[in-house]
Amino acid sequence: MKIKVIGAGLAGVEAAYYLLKKGYQVDLYEMRPKVMTPAHRTGDFAELVCSNSLRSDDIFNGVGLLKHEMRQFDSITMLSAEVAQVPAGSSLAVDRTIFSETIKSMLLSFEKLSIIEDVFSQIDENIPTIIATGPLTHKDLMTSLGSIFKQEFLHFFDAVSPILDGTTIDMNVCYLKSRYDKGDADYINCPMDKETYLRFYDALMSSDKVEVKDFENNVFEGCMPVETMAERGIDTLRFGPLKPVGLEKDGERPYAVIQLRQDDVGKTMYNIVGFQTHLTWPAQKKLIQMIPGLEQASIIRYGVMHKNHYIHSTEVLNGGYQVKHQPNLFIAGQLSGVEGYVESAASGLNAAIQLDQYLKTGHVLPFPKDTMIGAMARYVSTPNRSFVPMNANFGLMDAIETKMKKTDRKAFYVNRAKEAMSSYMKEAMTID
Ligand SMILES: Cc1cc2nc3c(=O)[nH]c(=O)nc-3n(C[C@H](O)[C@H](O)[C@H](O)COP(=O)(O)OP(=O)(O)OC[C@H]3O[C@@H](n4cnc5c(N)ncnc54)[C@H](O)[C@@H]3O)c2cc1C
Repeated sequence: MKIKVIGAGLAGVEAAYYLLKKGYQVDLYEMRPKVMTPAHRTGDFAELVCSNSLRSDDIFNGVGLLKHEMRQFDSITMLSAEVAQVPAGSSLAVDRTIFSETIKSMLLSFEKLSIIEDVFSQIDENIPTIIATGPLTHKDLMTSLGSIFKQEFLHFFDAVSPILDGTTIDMNVCYLKSRYDKGDADYINCPMDKETYLRFYDALMSSDKVEVKDFENNVFEGCMPVETMAERGIDTLRFGPLKPVGLEKDGERPYAVIQLRQDDVGKTMYNIVGFQTHLTWPAQKKLIQMIPGLEQASIIRYGVMHKNHYIHSTEVLNGGYQVKHQPNLFIAGQLSGVEGYVESAASGLNAAIQLDQYLKTGHVLPFPKDTMIGAMARYVSTPNRSFVPMNANFGLMDAIETKMKKTDRKAFYVNRAKEAMSSYMKEAMTID
């Protein structure tokens, strides 16, 4: 049977890979490089548009638990991330080019894959289809989806951090260290004393911003522009991305620290952690060159800001990312209201598992709410008038009534998730 997967981003490649492994013919539509989005820069599959980090790999963290669950289904994102991994302490970060190349070559090994390099806009309700076109979905498809859902798209704004040329960083000033010395010393740290921080803060507050069309300060909390965060107070950055705790140098704690994360295997590129911005490019350059050790830094990619769309999925999707009134249609990835690279990939994997279940049994088999992948699906399909996209976190799961220490609570969530997943896998396997 033929299945259409629309979009070769994080969610689309996961869905395609799972369905190919199950023996389906997959038509994978991707409009890039023929038609680009405002954020993507290449025609690569699963391009990481901003940070190269897939965040924590610690199972006692929401996104770490999600990764653990995805690995049980041989997630292509997780397999490729292993191949493309670059050092980043306890986080999982990748060389973005190797990551995309690995994904593409894994997909191309299936004869039943057809890649259609074009804009997709007409949905045929008789063909099982997963739409995974992301926050920057092409307008023609948005129009088609708008008429199926009879609703306005929701949106928020998301920003990208700048990337620097690693050879232009002054390592006489900066130093290598991971926070609390966890893992290897993978980050480059730019230390600031109080005076430097205050000068930097004043410059940031008075820097020119790019006027973004339709911008109503509706930004995603987890990817907030550095200038918006700074507006919350003089010390907000020091408790956020510029936090110096655990980054002491020779026993002394700087007043604030800007961290740089390795962006490629060759160590030629570094991105500035938590520095997503929509300042004008000259303002970014001036500000970055005020940072100790970055006075001569050359900027390979400037930060930018984009409008992200998502559907009001809580009204139209069930717990299997399936459109309630059009069962051959599934929506995955950021368009469905999940947020983040890993979450988008996980929802693509989940949608493919559900589509396979639906085609075999006539109904989806949602993951238990006690798993992270299931808790995310429940969040995007439970009525909620003020629905906003959400990263994977333990708050999506049912709370525990008994009082517990934070570490014990996390351990409880993780054990409960593991048990729920193992029962689910047994049930799902009886259908194969
Ligand atoms: C500017 C920006 C910065 C972000 N930064 C981060 C970050 O640092 N960390 C993080 O975890 N998340 C980040 N996100 C959020 C999110 O994780 C990414 O957008 C992620 O790529 C979403 O995955 P996806 O598969 O849903 O969509 P995408 O990865 O965007 O994939 C969708 C694909 O569909 C294609 N497409 C669109 N319309 C059509 C069409 N009609 N026909 C054919 N193809 C089409 C696109 O070209 C694209 O390749 C960011 C998002 C944006 C927009």
